[in-house]
Amino acid sequence: MPTRAKKPCAYQGCASLVDGSERYCEKHRKKVQQQVDEHRGSANDRGYTYRWRKYSLWFLRQPENVMCKLQLDGCTKLSECVDHIDPPNGADDPRFWDTDNHQGACIHCNSVKGHRKMEGTPRGGVYL
Ligand SMILES: [Zn+2]
Ligand SMILES: [Zn+2]
Repeated sequence: MPTRAKKPCAYQGCASLVDGSERYCEKHRKKVQQQVDEHRGSANDRGYTYRWRKYSLWFLRQPENVMCKLQLDGCTKLSECVDHIDPPNGADDPRFWDTDNHQGACIHCNSVKGHRKMEGTPRGGVYL
């Protein structure tokens, strides 16, 4: 780990200096994490909330989204979920709710795509 410059804790009104790789001082890191945990139950992990499910149902009813768009391995199935064309970094990422970033996909293609993306990451995982 390279040593980075210290910066102020991101918690509003806190003057503690934290390591460059951290957002909050130790006290506020716990506090913020607690708030986040309370906010999302395990079912709502990664932003797939009730709001998202409702949106998905609506999205997949639109005529242009009925068929699986990924069509991996010649797939001709109906869409079963909403795929993020450019996968977001969690629900806070603007790409998560960007309609232009959504397409219909069957569960199979959606998970195959997720897999291929991980395998295709050049310096990802343990090979770094
Ligand atoms: Zn703090
Ligand atoms: Zn498919």
